[in-house]
Amino acid sequence: MKKEINHEQVDVERVSEKLSKAIRIPTIAKLDEEGFDWTEFDKFHKFLEDEFPLVHKTLKREVIARADLVYIWEGSDPSLLPIAFLSHQDVVPVTEGTEGDWEHPAFAGEIADGYIWGRGAIDMKNQLVSVMESIETLLEEGYKPVRSVYLCFGHNEEIMSEKNSGAMNIVAEMQKRGIRFDSIIDEGGAMFPFSVPHILDMVLVGIGVGEKGYADYKVTVKGKGGHSSAPPDHSAIGELAKKIERFEKHQFKAEMPDYFMELIVSVCNRLAFPLNGLAKVVPTLKPIITFAMTKVPQGATFIRSCQAVTMCQGSPASNVLPQRASATINFRLVQGTTLKDIEKKLEKYMGGKNVEIERLEGREPKPLSPSDSRSFKTIKALMEESDSRYIVTPFLVMGGTDAYHYQDICDNVYRFGPYEVSVEVMMTAHSTNERVPVESLAKGVAFFKSYIRRMTAE
Ligand SMILES: [Zn+2]
Repeated sequence: MKKEINHEQVDVERVSEKLSKAIRIPTIAKLDEEGFDWTEFDKFHKFLEDEFPLVHKTLKREVIARADLVYIWEGSDPSLLPIAFLSHQDVVPVTEGTEGDWEHPAFAGEIADGYIWGRGAIDMKNQLVSVMESIETLLEEGYKPVRSVYLCFGHNEEIMSEKNSGAMNIVAEMQKRGIRFDSIIDEGGAMFPFSVPHILDMVLVGIGVGEKGYADYKVTVKGKGGHSSAPPDHSAIGELAKKIERFEKHQFKAEMPDYFMELIVSVCNRLAFPLNGLAKVVPTLKPIITFAMTKVPQGATFIRSCQAVTMCQGSPASNVLPQRASATINFRLVQGTTLKDIEKKLEKYMGGKNVEIERLEGREPKPLSPSDSRSFKTIKALMEESDSRYIVTPFLVMGGTDAYHYQDICDNVYRFGPYEVSVEVMMTAHSTNERVPVESLAKGVAFFKSYIRRMTAE
């Protein structure tokens, strides 16, 4: 039975059933390809074929590498750059020993109390299924795109493999064919409800316009070693500790992005009278707001590169002086900070005669996507038209996504899911009782239908 949601027809029961079936196939990716259970992925592909017959009749489907899927919906004008939707097919496993904590089993796909329950319900089979359902429904309605649409479903986003990633496989294949995308939607957006009775009732809808870079460095101080019964004043660990203290005193400089100030102004504009007057004052408060944000780690991370000393090693026994003491430091880089900057900083505050600095892992931050592209404006318009509480804003995603790799073949890459869920439900991703509200899933289908119409009509 179809229902009208935001001017689009959506069969709510049908899409809920499809997500439920998708959850019942435990497509868990493993770093070690040897122990990879491909049969679940084969089952997942079969499920897609069975549940989305028109998509499979009309779109071209290709399997890249072993289990990465690309669907191509050819538009009537091949001169236009295609749009693309990304989703990963894989889900994270359930932490051993927590299976019993689930109110509904993680891989049963039960529909109860207005939710579809199970691993992948939020991250991110919901998005994969709603994008597929939106196209299935558009096909039923006889819609024909002018601009082509690509669906790219990698098989192992969750394991963060730098060597054998599905996203990298697909991007390499697209590069080989000389294909670039007009714009991309992947996971990673966020919605934050704010409600204070009589003062404010709004939902901040974040479109991820970029993600932070990532790096791990190991700093090792070499010592003389020996028996702990005749120690020097400072062992190698003591020397290392002094360096760590000096390093931590020098945090990266914070820089408030313009969009963040604009966001604060638009929130103030939504406040009840007379508090909405604050909107006029806010721009003059930029230095104070910046300073205040650096004092809260959750705020600081949005406006500066971060450093965290996370692992330490010394000698293997309590009565042995360390010959080597090492610390691993994890970095999250905002746009404008490079791996080179980090190395300079490490050298300056932690370097020295008996010190080794080694990069274990590093990926530079890629540029932010613009917030005035047609794609961004379409997402913003659709969301704000659908609910007067929504304020759409660009923001920086903290984790890594498949989208990072696609920035090599697309300038407008947005991390966004049109699903309003409470913070409590959002926190169930990768955790216990992962679930998505049926209503929000159905709204997702309506969103993707409208988005495809507006983006591919010309
Ligand atoms: Zn995900």
